[in-house]
Amino acid sequence: MTYEDYKQFQQATSTPEGFTSAAHFKDGIWGNLPKLCLPSCIVDKKSNAISLDNETLNVLIAVLCIQRDETLKHRSTPEGATAIVKADRKALMQITGMSKNLVSNGLKSLEEAGYIAKIRGRDKLEQFAATQCILLNPITHSELLTHSDSKLLHANGLHYFTIPACIFGKQSNKTPATSAFVAMTNQERRLYIALTWLATQNKSSEFATTGTQLKTLTGLPDRAFKKSLEGLETKKLVWNSDSARTLHNLTIILRNPLTEELIGENRFDRNSRNNRENWYSNNPKGGLKKADFRLSSKDAETLFLEFLGERGESAQREGNEEFKFCCPFHADSTPSCNFNPTKGCFHCFAKQCNERGTTYKLLKKLSGGNGQEAIKRIARAKGMEIEYSDPDSKAVAVYNYIDQFQTLKKQVLRLPNDDAGNRQFRQRSLAPFGWIYKTSGVKPILFNRWFIEFADTVLITEGEKDAVTVTELALQGRNGMAFGTTSGGADSWNPVLAKDLRCRRVVILPDNDEAGKRYADEVEESLRAEGIEYRRASFHGTGAKDVTEYMETHSTEDLVRLIGVDWVRVPDGGTLFAPCNESAMMAGRSLACASIGV
Ligand SMILES: [Zn+2]
Repeated sequence: MTYEDYKQFQQATSTPEGFTSAAHFKDGIWGNLPKLCLPSCIVDKKSNAISLDNETLNVLIAVLCIQRDETLKHRSTPEGATAIVKADRKALMQITGMSKNLVSNGLKSLEEAGYIAKIRGRDKLEQFAATQCILLNPITHSELLTHSDSKLLHANGLHYFTIPACIFGKQSNKTPATSAFVAMTNQERRLYIALTWLATQNKSSEFATTGTQLKTLTGLPDRAFKKSLEGLETKKLVWNSDSARTLHNLTIILRNPLTEELIGENRFDRNSRNNRENWYSNNPKGGLKKADFRLSSKDAETLFLEFLGERGESAQREGNEEFKFCCPFHADSTPSCNFNPTKGCFHCFAKQCNERGTTYKLLKKLSGGNGQEAIKRIARAKGMEIEYSDPDSKAVAVYNYIDQFQTLKKQVLRLPNDDAGNRQFRQRSLAPFGWIYKTSGVKPILFNRWFIEFADTVLITEGEKDAVTVTELALQGRNGMAFGTTSGGADSWNPVLAKDLRCRRVVILPDNDEAGKRYADEVEESLRAEGIEYRRASFHGTGAKDVTEYMETHSTEDLVRLIGVDWVRVPDGGTLFAPCNESAMMAGRSLACASIGV
């Protein structure tokens, strides 16, 4: 690989749109939605049914919701303490929408079921207003211990499933949103819990199930089951995309309660302008807020017919709620696509096509694949002024971490320094539904990992900026380009990374400070353990803090001499003459370690 190849590759892949294959990306059930964890054991293994009645189930969810909120509020929860929740009645009533009496009953039966133990009041007054509860493991009856993150159940060895936390939005002063937990009937809640439990069992937000299974799980009789499913579909929390409407076999897809999109629907569209989450509208309280693109069934119908009309096409009404029309996703001469504005979903029943999705996806397709056009028209229909905000507009630099299979694993965004002059970074990884601002699932990876495949000499710096600086010098190693790499900041080295540097010569170019020395020591130790030939250069005495600063006042030749003319060559491949010892000292060369044999 030449420097030109490298440049071209960088340009082609500088945006996530350059990566179309989602094969390597790990699917989550809820995408980037914050989640509330519930214990899987609420479903009894023998009977395959939810073992708690409505009141108890509601109170359990509310207690865990309060626990989650508290943990998130106090970021530094001590680890290993008894997990105590202040079961404030008012909060419980707000979350569940239940009366005082029902909440009390629910708390009582939750204690009987072994999920909590009330701490009996020292004070009579506290008895009603707020009971302190210890959370218990319902299987072993031992106390749950606190953990620093919000995954309390997981940390205590309990299997869990997840529901989106946004359905518990603070409702006290507002009319509840249709998709809110409080706006659901008890039967709908039961069915929603059953469906989310099944999603976890299936490890997917889309799964097949049967009416029989769902009725067993929820204990709902036939009519109530049908009504609840209809209710959840109309609230756009789930969608049954199965073509036969018999409710014997169902294909359930979970939806994002905030945007109504089918989870994972936009996984292949990485154009940030087509992402509704990057569009903002005026907040009546001042400033901007994320625009709400949810459509009423009437608006959805109007827009759909408008878009079709603009193509010179029309739709036939089918029954009360649905339309049949020629599918825009395949060459369709007999109308084979159905659209239901109330549920906000379409489905093409042509076998070779089977395309389906939400109103937005359909409008986008009908406007020739233009997501922005659909977004603007939806906003206009809702009487909403919107503006786009580039999520990366603040970033000074964006660094792609591409693995040896040429897959983008994560990005590091360098943000402007804070007021105290400290460097600010943000890391994110690509999920099927877009960026998530965490990289916990990403294995340790070296920056420029893919290019290391082509390198015989690798220069390790502290931080991506320096790695880019040395790469752009286009230095030559023995037989090819020398690439810069890094694990990130001074505290980011992981010994496992050394394995990727086997059979290469490695030059460590640490920052000229204490943190840099520590970083270099760590790198050195793991290189030695792998038997890798390495050398450590230092900017001590050069007046520069790091290689980027060094290059501001020195030439490429200076750096080649600093590293050693026997290891690296200037870009045209020429070898410099070795400096005499004195000039090496002048240039600040300091080979702290002699190279060792492989
Ligand atoms: Zn089709």
